[in-house]
Amino acid sequence: MLQITRVLSRSCAGLRWHHCSVAEVKNEPILEYRHGSSEREALHKALQELKGKTEEIPCVVGGEAVWTEDVRYQLSPFKHGHKVAKYCYADKDLLNKAINAALSARREWDLKPVQDRAQIFFKAADILSGPRRAEILAKTMIGQGKTVIQAEIDAAAELIDFFRFNAKYALELQHEQLISVPVSTNTLVYRGLEGFIAAVSPFNFTAIGGNLAGAPALMGNVVLWKPSDTAMLSSYAVYKTLLEAGLPPNVIQFIPADGPVFGDTVTGSEHLCGINFTGSVPTFKRLWKQVAENLERYRTFPRLSGECGGKNFHFVHKSADVESAVNGVIRSAFEYGGQKCSACSRLYVPDSLWPRIKARLLEEHRKIKVGDPAEDFSTFFSAVIDDRAFRRIAGWIKHAETSPSLSILAGGKCNDDVGYYVEPTIIETKDPKEKIISEEIFGPILTVYVYPENKYRDVLHLIDSTSPYGLTGAVFAQDKSVIEEASRVLRNAAGNFYINDKSTGAVVAQQPFGGSRASGTNDKPGGRHYILRWTSPQAVKETHVPLTEWTYPYMQ
Ligand code: NAD
Repeated sequence: MLQITRVLSRSCAGLRWHHCSVAEVKNEPILEYRHGSSEREALHKALQELKGKTEEIPCVVGGEAVWTEDVRYQLSPFKHGHKVAKYCYADKDLLNKAINAALSARREWDLKPVQDRAQIFFKAADILSGPRRAEILAKTMIGQGKTVIQAEIDAAAELIDFFRFNAKYALELQHEQLISVPVSTNTLVYRGLEGFIAAVSPFNFTAIGGNLAGAPALMGNVVLWKPSDTAMLSSYAVYKTLLEAGLPPNVIQFIPADGPVFGDTVTGSEHLCGINFTGSVPTFKRLWKQVAENLERYRTFPRLSGECGGKNFHFVHKSADVESAVNGVIRSAFEYGGQKCSACSRLYVPDSLWPRIKARLLEEHRKIKVGDPAEDFSTFFSAVIDDRAFRRIAGWIKHAETSPSLSILAGGKCNDDVGYYVEPTIIETKDPKEKIISEEIFGPILTVYVYPENKYRDVLHLIDSTSPYGLTGAVFAQDKSVIEEASRVLRNAAGNFYINDKSTGAVVAQQPFGGSRASGTNDKPGGRHYILRWTSPQAVKETHVPLTEWTYPYMQ
């Protein structure tokens, strides 16, 4: 422990925002960006610097920047005329080079003391917390269409927390040791996995990309990180921060690539030892099947970790605090345009409360401002991520317009002239199994089902059986017996279960995140257990007493 404290103290010497002992690691405070604050000023400046700019982002393989001819652009979702990044896709050859480069660094990195590895992540967190905070926020806002607060809780707070808490957990894990006896000492050695890890990240959280690649690296693994095409700008900033913090160049290879080309190449390598994925169910299933098909080839059984989609519910009981339920729904369903895996997309309301809740929802809905989050800080959410998402979501609205059991209560307009804008949309369904209330949409669309007040038990079972997912869900009720009953019935319906709170906003170390069923492997990033997925422990027994004979006493 002493040694750990000493190393950490050195890492943060002279920095105002330092953490000097593992016990002191705390959640990063969320800044408010009020008028006149220094953080607001810094953010304005960083946004200004990105205006009209296109950053060039290469593949980084073997520590070198590499360009291929397959050049692509990342567009700003709310102003698609602005190309925020120019990057290129790695081809199969380059991906294979990246695998070799990673493998060449593996032994040395894995043998590095965990204190040294952890120190890099503490330092990266300090850099993100201080000098690079505004830059990474601005890149997340412009590139992924986030508002100030959504960028702050993601690219600053969550990412910093991931790095610090994972490092803390990795250091504490060293003390999770075995029983030693007078004749022998037993030790668990927390090794990295043998081979390389493929980290595949989604567009919607800058923090997730950093964690998918960062957590395995912290545990002594080498990683091929394929960032999302629509989060390139912020992902590259995270990568550069890790290098700046001292991550050796070959530990994480940064390789933008076509999804299937990347997936086919990594699952085809005998050295694949793990996939750390966050994204949609079809992509994860495809990767899992490819691993199964290639099973004979691998040197070790690859570990598969995948956090996927959701169809998250808010259940309102007649005893609920109506105001809290309404505000929770507005935030959860519409913040970041419903593009959080945890966003509420189905709402169950008792008929007795519906007139009040409907009136309040429509009243608040009218106040929601959708627009350019960089120019106008009073914007509540912005455009959806790209033209594909725009068309998909518009398709759902068309479906709502034509389906006899659905009626659009608010919103429903889409416009992609300047950016991929979709209005916050509230739909009522008379059919509780309509596909709009069971399939993931991933946009600003909320579907409401109104149930007879005295049938709430049936509705709990309905919620449990409506969708294939099990990610997040919330129960709003003041009646304690209803909360207990709902917790029992919905035990498997949500990996993150909220009581009188909205279904979004999980905080590292407070609500580790993930769900089962079709929502993924529920490895709970943000929790202490998560890093165990990225270590392959070796049990070492050292005997201090020589063996003097091979026969046993009872044999004599
Ligand atoms: P996506 O599945 O389209 O893409 C995810 C990543 O996979 C991207 O980097 C993409 O390029 C890559 N990819 C695509 N095809 C591939 C292939 N064949 N092989 C390898 N990689 C491939 O998902 P998305 O649109 O970026 O993200 C949205 C989805 O992510 C939603 O379903 C959302 O619910 C889910 N999500 C879940 C969590 C969670 O923690 N459960 C968090 C964030 C997002």
